[in-house]
Amino acid sequence: MLVATSMRQAQLLKTATVRVLDLSRSPDVICMNMMCDKLEGPCVCRVARFLEQNQWDALEEIRLVGNRLDQVPPSIFMRGLKRLDLSDNSIKELPLDISRCESLETLDMSKNRLVKVAWNALLNLPNLKTIDFRENKSLTIPDNVDLSGKNVLL
Ligand SMILES: [Zn+2]
Repeated sequence: MLVATSMRQAQLLKTATVRVLDLSRSPDVICMNMMCDKLEGPCVCRVARFLEQNQWDALEEIRLVGNRLDQVPPSIFMRGLKRLDLSDNSIKELPLDISRCESLETLDMSKNRLVKVAWNALLNLPNLKTIDFRENKSLTIPDNVDLSGKNVLL
């Protein structure tokens, strides 16, 4: 299994062959964009651009653990992705775009600040088995959301 633990390593290995991109607790998420108001702090813009501008034919797993991110990087929602670990950040929302991750099997968003989740999109993903939402203090589940059939950890 080809694992890259930095953007530079992913490019050296050729991004199209990387199976696991692990940018957990990574200096690669520190913003270097002069136009961005999060310059020199943790920000999704650099990760988002890196994912957009490279080819990821083999990518099955992305880990972005412990990066103080306040949102999900918009370009992370790839069709081939099987495992996504965004635990231990400050993310408030899981957007509707999660529906694009048709192959997703495991989603870990424990230890975040989730208040808004696109439940219907999430629960309709055919291969999704485990969803970890533990340690999201303000998260409440609407009455009409049916969690049966998925292993949801709360
Ligand atoms: Zn930025």
